[in-house]
Amino acid sequence: MTEFTITVRDLALFCHRQGDIDHRFTPSPTAMQGIEGHQRVYRDRPASYQREFSVSYSAPVAGLGLRVRGRADGYDQTRALVEEIKTCRVDPARIPEPVTRLHLAQGRLYAAMIAEQEDLQALTVQLTWLELDKDREHSLQQDYSRAELRAFLEDSLHRYGTWLALVQAHRARRDLSLRDLPFPHRGFRPGQRELSERVYKCVHQAGRLLLEAPTGIGKTVAVLYPALKALATGRHERIVFTTGKISGRRTAEHTFDQLMRAGYAGNALSLTAKEQVCLSPGRACHGEDCPYARGYYDRLPAARAAALDTQQLDRPALESLARRFEVCPYQLSLDLAPWVDMIIADVHHVFSLTANLAERLAASAERWTVLLDEAHTLPERARQMYGAELARSTLVLARKEAPAVVKKLLDRCNRQFLALEKARLPGAQNEWHESIPDKLHKVLQACFEKLGEQLALDPLLLQQRPALRDWHFAVLQFLRVVELWGDEFRLEVVADTGGQGPRLLLHCLDPGRLLALRHEPVHALVAFSATLTPQRWTLDSLGLDQEAVAYRARSSFAREQLQVQLATHIDTRYQQRQHSLPALAALLRQWLDMVPGNCLLYFSSYSYLQSCLVELEAQGWPEGRLRWVQAPGQDADARGSLLRQLGERRDVAAFCVLGGAFGEGIDLPGDDLSSVVVVGVGLPQVNAANEQLRNHYQKHYGSGFAHAYQYPGMQKVSQALGRVVRLETDYGRALLVDGRYSDPAYRALLPPWWTYRMGPLQEGPV
Ligand code: SF4
Repeated sequence: MTEFTITVRDLALFCHRQGDIDHRFTPSPTAMQGIEGHQRVYRDRPASYQREFSVSYSAPVAGLGLRVRGRADGYDQTRALVEEIKTCRVDPARIPEPVTRLHLAQGRLYAAMIAEQEDLQALTVQLTWLELDKDREHSLQQDYSRAELRAFLEDSLHRYGTWLALVQAHRARRDLSLRDLPFPHRGFRPGQRELSERVYKCVHQAGRLLLEAPTGIGKTVAVLYPALKALATGRHERIVFTTGKISGRRTAEHTFDQLMRAGYAGNALSLTAKEQVCLSPGRACHGEDCPYARGYYDRLPAARAAALDTQQLDRPALESLARRFEVCPYQLSLDLAPWVDMIIADVHHVFSLTANLAERLAASAERWTVLLDEAHTLPERARQMYGAELARSTLVLARKEAPAVVKKLLDRCNRQFLALEKARLPGAQNEWHESIPDKLHKVLQACFEKLGEQLALDPLLLQQRPALRDWHFAVLQFLRVVELWGDEFRLEVVADTGGQGPRLLLHCLDPGRLLALRHEPVHALVAFSATLTPQRWTLDSLGLDQEAVAYRARSSFAREQLQVQLATHIDTRYQQRQHSLPALAALLRQWLDMVPGNCLLYFSSYSYLQSCLVELEAQGWPEGRLRWVQAPGQDADARGSLLRQLGERRDVAAFCVLGGAFGEGIDLPGDDLSSVVVVGVGLPQVNAANEQLRNHYQKHYGSGFAHAYQYPGMQKVSQALGRVVRLETDYGRALLVDGRYSDPAYRALLPPWWTYRMGPLQEGPV
């Protein structure tokens, strides 16, 4: 009989959570404060008291073997007492009954297992609340006989086991379907089979794999198919397909749909951001304000059971379930996550500081494989996720809305802002620090705690005060980042502009260490993209150790399918731009005359793009060419207009910014795109933040310029080149304009799959 393991905490949550969604009683803002709270309680316990007492209990239920394991906060043998400790910021009398009942249930489960383990006839369960701010304990005790405890444990196991049997029946159907599941296309393209084999092997060996393969080869299906196949072999239990782009999520959902049509009987859940799926926009996630939060946990079991009959739990399917059972769709998606075979989610759900999946993954006894799509985008996203910003202007607005007790602390925060502003060197726009001033940290912490206390008293407090809410969440993120502080972090104090006071920015220069922590509990990890060169840099910035296997796939396209011309006679470096502009415009004009079909032209900045357009106009706009220009802050409609025109016409010359909305993640097959032009080598702008990156990488890797500028720049160039050839029948051309393309250090970073040629422009078929 296969044994299934569950933790005591999860068993309690599964069986004994009732009532409303209510986030007020999250014990503390940071894990560290929760741990410190426990230590404070332990200090007063007698010598006979055993902390973190390990328990384990196994029983057959509904034809399955169940093992429950965990560690009770405390067990005192002489007093026959089991203790469950929680931290809080309010008088525990205010804590809603369902929350107390849940914690007591957890204590009772521990007590039941200890009674069996230690052969005891009765035990006292003590729930202790520690009021963090007042350092005061409140205890609630209940006495149970062994028979009562055992009945409670067995009832919980029966409820959980019955559900698990349903899930297992679903998995058996899934495994049967996987046995003969064909590849959902006519056959593997060249290169695809090798990719699939490597993914399969990686899952079997619990490995770390870096896969580089050209755009258009069909990476998503080549990675997903073997990962799903491996579910049936029992080498892993769950897959998370993470992507940094909406287009990546759509491709994964589309591929899953194709696999379903081919006979796959498993399920997949798409996680969407709360704001996008919320059925009560503008309301608080609380039973007093939102009907979908009210009684959520009472209706969850029925909604969860119904979800098991749906294969593709995408946004419409979740919304329909949510309306039918009157439950919050966002919370429902999180509660379904442990029960589906595959989750499709933005990288935020796995790698951010508030990543709900990361927590589950770390606590789970099951083996999770992470498939990381567009892996090259993760380091930059991670820098944002591990950064924070606090502005004095937000503080000032928040103060106007704050209750009196919070105002005092906001005033103290304000004094710290002003002290930092005052200490700034005269004339300096921004100042960089390697640590956080202790006083600032302490006062922010105190302010956050006071706000938490007020929030516990009034769940709608922030709902009615938007500026205070912004401040609350900004401080929360700030404190979370400070807790992770290491030598890869910097505090930037940005100067006052317009009497608003300074802004404090926390930068994570190198997210490798924190990403590595996220990878730790993952069974297997496959990071894939069209641009992962150079491998060493990619491994470091993704937090993968040097043991990871890196593989570059052979292309399913012929080299001739993309002819890349290198125009090295034009200097596009910043100081030379004005001088080289006429020659550049003449070259682009020649290209647009000579190479028919739609063309995307990429520039390193909007201003460079505009200067070039002006020069092109002055020289005479190429005949028969429709002009389209990307502008800063363009909305989705404007972006959609370009894609529409590329689909309908064959004469478009679209001027875009490298690395922007059209630089990657768009699919333009066939004649929708015939050529691309990249002006420059894509180097990020030289500014104070990038110079900090450069210094950091110079210190740690000895190659500051390459890490901070050259590699990220050339990655964007490679992505741009990847727009042209998407199908086996596609042929196209590309023009790279910059003197540095004659430098072997830059040439080595270009994708190896295409034909490169230097010299004057040549006529040739597209
Ligand atoms: S429906 Fe919206 S407001 Fe209601 S609980 Fe869900 S996310 Fe919150």
